[in-house]
This record gives sequence, C-alpha cells and structure tokens, in this order.
Amino acid sequence: MKFAKVFQQALNDEQIPSDWIEKAIQYKQLKKRINKVVNELEDLNIYNSEVSNYEIEIINNNKLHTNLNIPITSITKNRLINQLNNSSYNYEIVPINDDNNDNDTTSDINPFDDSIESYNLKISLLEDTKFFQILYNEVETLEKFKFEEEEIFKENIESMCSIISTLTIPNKRNNDLLIWRQIFKIYIESEIFFSTVERMAGKIDNIDLSRDRLILFFKKINETKLLDKFHNKQSLNIYQNFKTLNFEIIKVSTYEKFNNLAVKKILKKFDKNTHFHSKDIFSSIIRRRDDITNISLDIYYIINSKLLPIIPQIDDYLCPICCSIAIKPIRLKCSHLFCIRCLVKLRRKREDKCPLCREECLLELTVNNLDESLYKYMKLYFPVEVKEKEMENSREIIKEQMGESSGNINKCLIM
Ligand SMILES: [Zn+2]
Ligand SMILES: [Zn+2]
Repeated sequence: MKFAKVFQQALNDEQIPSDWIEKAIQYKQLKKRINKVVNELEDLNIYNSEVSNYEIEIINNNKLHTNLNIPITSITKNRLINQLNNSSYNYEIVPINDDNNDNDTTSDINPFDDSIESYNLKISLLEDTKFFQILYNEVETLEKFKFEEEEIFKENIESMCSIISTLTIPNKRNNDLLIWRQIFKIYIESEIFFSTVERMAGKIDNIDLSRDRLILFFKKINETKLLDKFHNKQSLNIYQNFKTLNFEIIKVSTYEKFNNLAVKKILKKFDKNTHFHSKDIFSSIIRRRDDITNISLDIYYIINSKLLPIIPQIDDYLCPICCSIAIKPIRLKCSHLFCIRCLVKLRRKREDKCPLCREECLLELTVNNLDESLYKYMKLYFPVEVKEKEMENSREIIKEQMGESSGNINKCLIM
C-alpha cells in the first residue's frame, strides 16, 4: 500500500481529531509538488545533471532559500543564459577553476569545446524553494500545535494530581488511598509505555505493544473490581479521565510517528526524483530547532514523575534485607535505609559494613539514626503493612527470648 494511504488509514484508525489532521504533514500534496520540481528541471534541460552541491538555508523570518550547483559545459551555458534571463532567474555562472592554473582560466576555455564541464551553474530554482518552504512551514506549524496540545495535557494531568491528592489523604474518612495505590501499582507493573525488563529497556517504541498492554491493564482493573470499592464518586470520574489520557498517548504516539515518517519519506522521494541530496541538509535545519516536541514521551514522563508518585508505593519503603516494610527505619551514614531489627541482627554477627555499599558505618550506629519522620509517614500511608510487620517483629522477639530462656533452663538441667 502506498504511504499516503497508510498515513491516512492510520489517522482514521486511531480516530485522530480533525484539527490534528489539518495540522498533519500534507504528504499527498507535497508529492505532487515534487513533479513540479522535476518539470522545472526538464524545462531548463538540466534534469539528470550531476548535482555537485545542494544548499538550503533560512535567510530571515523563516524564509527559505535554495541553491543548486551543477557543472555545465560551454554549450549548455550558452543555451541556458537566454532561457534564464527570459525567466528572470537568480543565477550565477562561474568557470570551474583548475587547480593547476588558477589565474587565467577564462582565457583557456575553448568556447567550441563542450566535452569538458568547465562552468558551475549556481541557480535558485523556483519550484524546489516552494516545496521546501511548504514543508518547512508545515513542520513549524506542527511543532507549534504539538507544543500547545502538550500544554493542554499538562493542565489536565495537574488537575488530576490535585484531585487525587485530596481523595487520598490518609487520615481523612472514606479516603480512596488504598484503591488508588492498587490501581497505580498494577499500572506501573504493566509497563505500558516504558519497560524495565525487556532486553532493550526504556521507552517502548512499538505502539501496538503499548496498546495491547494498556488494554490488558484496564481489563485487569475490571477483574479486580477495584472500581466498585471507591468511596468517592469523583475517584471514578478521575479514573475515566486517566483511562482517556492513556489512550490519548497512544493516539499522539501514532500521530507523531506518522508525521515524522511522512517527512522522512517525502525527502527520500524528493531526492530520488530530482537526484538532489537534500535529505540531510533539510533534516539538519529542522533539528536545529531546540524545542522539538515529543508529546507522547513528555506526557508519559509527567505521569511517571508527577501523577504516580502522589500515591506512595510500598516498594520504595522496603528494607533490602528482610524485603518487607522498613520499620523502624534506620538511615545509615551512607544514606541506605534498613529496618532496625535487621541491623541489630547484623550487629550481633559483628558485621560492621552496610550490606549494600559495604561502607563501614554499622559500628557508629545509635538511636539517633532512627528516621522518626519517615517512620511517622510510613504509619500514615501504610498502616496495614506497618501493623503486620510490628506484630511479626514482636512474635520474633518473644521467640528469641523464649529460646534464650529455654537455653538457660537446659543449662540449669545439665547443671
Ligand atoms: Zn529488614
Ligand atoms: Zn550503604
């Protein structure tokens, strides 16, 4: 299938809004413009000439200027001059300097010898300038549009953040903290747009894979029946908003992918049909902008750095030794965090190094190392887990004491 059709189809399938479609790269129209460039070259009889240098530059106010440099023979030169003057072209014909005699080249040129290409024609064509100006303007408009759209997304996420914050205040009656935590936990584990386990960890560039994972995520949420447990109706609205937002990321990713592809393909087609080498030059002009937007990546980043962290996840508060919540948390000099029980046990074994970084900081340990504010925070946000761990600890302590005392009893008996 031709790319123009594939592009159109992708925009339709993804139900891209009409104002987005308007701002998309007009691949089909640009393709027609390439024919005009070819016609112009044919009219001047320089089609198929070997282009020694092709220049595109922005002169001012985003106005584009192109220059074509081709070596020509004296016969072509004589024929062209009339034609170019009649059509009021901007051009320059200069003799090609030979390295061996760079002073009086003009006098050496035999006007009847057309076997050597002895002149360089530098010409600003009309149709290729139009083509690149249109393409450049389209890229500019698209960038501006993407930037504006991203601002709308940001505002939406910010408002979600503030509403979720108020719905999940731990001490408030009927808060939805635990339900939102479950939802976000499943979301993080689903690795929809970003992967940690795959061989190529990082942003997932496969939109279909992201879409599949997203659908699976919402299916999982439905299966858990978490939504029925919401205390606040507002939570349900925000959840719907979150769902829409995620599908919008898929939409935007598709939109960005196909627009980028359209620019790439049209440049390739232009070079193929005109025999110019414009692709890298034009790409570098676009890349020179410092505000290229990648909305899908930016939105995902905001979700990850602003929205998800609103609800603390237990994984961030685990002791690396016992792998459960680190109560009472001790912050070592090296800044690593453990639960007090695990460190006491290490000390009993006369261990003096941090199990993570091996810094010798266990011996200087005092009660002052207890991170009181963090402990309070844990009790507030993870009351269930903290209680469980405390009970487990006290059971263990009792066991230890029993062991010690039974050891004493044995000793007594032996005695
Ligand atoms: Zn521990
Ligand atoms: Zn350490």
